[in-house]
Amino acid sequence: MESWDVIIVGAGHGGAATAIALRQKGFAGSIALITRENLPPYERPPLSKDYLAGDKPFERILLRPESFWADKDIALRLGEAVTDIDPLRREIALYDGTRLRYGSLVWATGGDPRRLSCPGADNAGVHAIRNRADVDRLKAELAGGARRAVVIGGGYIGLEAAAVLRKFGCEVAVLESQDRVLNRVAGEELSRFYEAEHRRHGVDLRTGVTVSGIEGRDGQATGVTLADGETIPAEIVIVGIGIVPAIGPLIAAGAAGANGVDVDEFCRTSLEDVYAIGDCAAHANPYADGAVIRLESVQNAHDMATTVALAITGDHQPYDAVPWFWSNQYDLRLQTVGFSTDFDRAVLRGDPADRSFSVIYLREGRVIALDCVNRTKDYVQGRKLVEARLVAEPERLADTETALKDLL
Ligand code: NAP
Repeated sequence: MESWDVIIVGAGHGGAATAIALRQKGFAGSIALITRENLPPYERPPLSKDYLAGDKPFERILLRPESFWADKDIALRLGEAVTDIDPLRREIALYDGTRLRYGSLVWATGGDPRRLSCPGADNAGVHAIRNRADVDRLKAELAGGARRAVVIGGGYIGLEAAAVLRKFGCEVAVLESQDRVLNRVAGEELSRFYEAEHRRHGVDLRTGVTVSGIEGRDGQATGVTLADGETIPAEIVIVGIGIVPAIGPLIAAGAAGANGVDVDEFCRTSLEDVYAIGDCAAHANPYADGAVIRLESVQNAHDMATTVALAITGDHQPYDAVPWFWSNQYDLRLQTVGFSTDFDRAVLRGDPADRSFSVIYLREGRVIALDCVNRTKDYVQGRKLVEARLVAEPERLADTETALKDLL
């Protein structure tokens, strides 16, 4: 049986970053990086932006040049999936029955796109956006002349895809079940701004709607039907309704967890020498007042990868990175830092009409988060306010003549 010092499962941002960080920290043991895809590790954020738009070819979204992995003696095992874990024997089983032994196991599988459960969801033309193959299928349909699209879900995936599809000249409807878009990640002021921007760009954006089915002819999607009976015609249906953490084998092996696998501050699961990182790792986050959450962001995947690489090399440093996110839609660059959940006051800095403003969120007088639209300086300086959990005067935060760094 093959034996590896470290086996990393999942070659997204977290898995790849763990392998890279291990080598950077001088780890000389053997490393295998397992991925279901037949592709070397690549960046995911461009999938719903530049790669979908055709502005970046695949080669330009590779996380490292193809030769890097062999140069660093990291074994890429492409097209393989882990089906079972035996934590007592420290073995994993692959889909084809092969068994591999590990010293440390790093679970970095992220999540699978949540699927629609309504009739017709399996028609051709219905797409998730999670990997390159999803986007290539979508691009082929666009190249074939499809021009009517319905996007289900008003999260980052849905809104970024809608912006790109408008660029292609598609008719686009966005259907969000909640009463505002970006409800999971942003405050109401920001949601309303983005709704207005999409409408200004010609998107038929609807909130508070329920999808009851996907219509189809000969197995091809032709439209999306709402609970009120209306059908919106579409050859393309994009489903961006969140992810389900891919943790089946870990939980079956006895790891604690439910919505994600539970990890401690060093990203250790309840199984010995088994770590979990990224979208699938449920952890107590210091910036969420210690609440146990999963963080679906590239930043979190990278920072947890560093935590694990350090832990494996014997340097235990707790994960306490400040969370941040970004999203590009049209000519708008949104940068978010911290969690705005549970804010008790929101301060507007700048004017949304100028399409350059920030919303600064406070709780009990302390800065807990910022959403910055086309205001990178606020984001960079505001980060430090969040890290310091600064008590600040709302009037000074709102004053665009005062640099945020001057409040520290
Ligand atoms: P998401 O952020 O969870 O947003 C999905 C939205 O769809 C939610 O508002 C959700 O409402 C709504 N929804 C759920 N079921 C629905 C239905 N049947 N009909 C209409 N709306 C429905 O997920 P996502 O946009 O699919 O993104 C997936 C992952 O990719 C996330 O981890 C996201 O952060 C990541 N991503 C990040 C970026 C970025 O950082 N810029 C870009 C792209 C993707 P509920 O809250 O009620 O479920």
